Amino acid sequence: MRILSLFYIIFIATLLAFIAFLYISIEEFEKKIIKNIQNVILTNTSYFADNIISTIKKEVGNKNLYEALKNNPQLRSKLESKIQMVVTTSFRYIYMLYRDKNGRYRYLLDGSLSDKGFFDSKLDVNVKEWDKVYVTKKTNVFFQSGIDNLWITTLKPYIVNDEIQGVLAIDFSTQLLDNFSKILNPIKEMFLYIFLAIIFLFSIVLYQIVIHLKTKKEIIIDPLTRTYNRIFLRDKIEKLDVYDYDLAMLDLDHFKKINDTFGHKAGDLILENFAMLVKRNLRDKDFIIRFGGEEFLILLYKGKNKNINSKKILERIKKAVEEYDFIYEGKTLKITVSIGLVKDLYKYANIKEAIKIADKRLYDAKYSGRNIIIDYDISYDALPKNNQIDIEKVKLAIDNNRVICHFQPIVNLDTKKVIKYEALVRIIDENGNLIYPNSFLDSIEGTNIYRDMTKKLLEIVLNKIRTKNVSISINLNLSDLIDNSIYKILYDELSQNKIYAKFLTIELLEYEKALNKQLLSKRIDEIKSFGVKIALDDFGSGYSNFSIFEVFPIDIIKIDGSLIKNIDVSNTSYGIVEAIVKLAINLKMDIIGEFIHNEVVFSRLKELKLKYGQGYYLGKPLETI
Ligand code: GH3
Ligand code: MG
Ligand code: MG
Repeated sequence: MRILSLFYIIFIATLLAFIAFLYISIEEFEKKIIKNIQNVILTNTSYFADNIISTIKKEVGNKNLYEALKNNPQLRSKLESKIQMVVTTSFRYIYMLYRDKNGRYRYLLDGSLSDKGFFDSKLDVNVKEWDKVYVTKKTNVFFQSGIDNLWITTLKPYIVNDEIQGVLAIDFSTQLLDNFSKILNPIKEMFLYIFLAIIFLFSIVLYQIVIHLKTKKEIIIDPLTRTYNRIFLRDKIEKLDVYDYDLAMLDLDHFKKINDTFGHKAGDLILENFAMLVKRNLRDKDFIIRFGGEEFLILLYKGKNKNINSKKILERIKKAVEEYDFIYEGKTLKITVSIGLVKDLYKYANIKEAIKIADKRLYDAKYSGRNIIIDYDISYDALPKNNQIDIEKVKLAIDNNRVICHFQPIVNLDTKKVIKYEALVRIIDENGNLIYPNSFLDSIEGTNIYRDMTKKLLEIVLNKIRTKNVSISINLNLSDLIDNSIYKILYDELSQNKIYAKFLTIELLEYEKALNKQLLSKRIDEIKSFGVKIALDDFGSGYSNFSIFEVFPIDIIKIDGSLIKNIDVSNTSYGIVEAIVKLAINLKMDIIGEFIHNEVVFSRLKELKLKYGQGYYLGKPLETI
């Protein structure tokens, strides 16, 4: 298209130049012809003038012309009628003047047919030109423009004894030349019209081309972020050698919250500026594509240079986003971005496959607490333990009541009805950012702060049950139950408000650890007697020990997410889950699958007659119930 347009423009330009050349040629031709005609006329005029002057001389002889004519009206009319004989429509005015003492010009003879000037009467002339004749004593030819047409005037001196006694004037009307131009004008006009018509057509086509190219470009551009859109991905991606790139999937963290808190416009502003920040860190050969609402794909160019460190580029982007102050209506908004990165695309069947992997890693990044780049396949157990925040910060959050819970629905897979919620702890830092447990649990493990955190969590959950009358699961370690101060909170609440006990489930973690089993059994029996249910969390991962079922009265088994997550791709996971389901049925326990993140996983679990489940596919953690 571009080459065609270029060809078209060159063609039109050549055509226009040719027409212009023709037009100029005609003008030149006209000028030449006119010049020739003028020469012929001037030769004629000069011939007439010579004739007239010699005729006068013949009659007057060496006498003073003025004196001779003044006293002899017959001579005057005789000479005038002779002059009249050469008067034509072109040589309309032929007359002779003299200059008086005052420098004024007066009639000697006038050969004109009408408006005849009388002898000695004054005539206003172009004094400058006439005087020239007196100075040079030579013929002077000049142009004078009349009202109707142009005249060429020839002035020839009448000299006797080296004295100028009069000046003969012959005015030639250029009407003839005008007539000649009139013949040529239609041809010139025709060329002009052709010229204009071509320019007009040219402009229309050029306009069309520009519009076409523009809309063609607009179609693949997202209007809000000015990044490429899905159409680009669909149409253009085949033309790229994707193996020359690394692929990253980006998703803004808790973007919905921005919309909910500050409005859609604030969200749009963030999207716009986010795209700008990313672009600023990309190179010319990289691509950014808006994949969904607040999801973007980035293709990072590598070419043959395998040393390009895509992760470094993404880290720069992540940092730029984290540090950027998005100003909306005077307020400073902050956002972070989670990133899934896929390198060595040749390992994958096609770009779609690679996008899927990037999406999976993005999901892992979200699960790992967000604001993080994941560039490898991680198992659920091995979530990275980076981003750990300072222990003092956690302490401050607890002291300042900045510990909160999100509640993720646990759903009946048949009816899709929510049966209860799992309480998931988060803290809010000094800047109002949400911090996820994987960013602080490791740093506070085994500390007193951890105990404070658990107590806070218990308070929140029990309070929620009291106010909302909903079933909630809470994660506790066996060591939490052994801790007297934690257990006291639980026991006091349950013994005082027995009706709430049936709303509470305790999901036990780290049950393989050797602890005071006797005390544990006693306490578990105690709270169970109030009606609390006991779930075994993360079953199937780590060193899941079946003897646990002998030691503690378990009501519910929660199958570990790492098994569920891959059930759509791994036969082993599928087999293990199948076995756990059977185990649960045999032991008459309820069973919950977590990490149900897509429809395939969901239907696989339904195949296995799994009754309850949770995961992003069924519902993300909510701030409120
Ligand atoms: P997470 O960290 O898990 O990604 O949480 P999130 O809130 O970012 O994710 P979620 O997918 O729940 O929310 C995405 C939101 O993005 C939902 C939708 O309303 C919003 N969104 C999508 N497109 C646009 C847009 O063009 N403008 C604005 N303002 N919001 C958009
Ligand atoms: Mg999203
Ligand atoms: Mg998001």
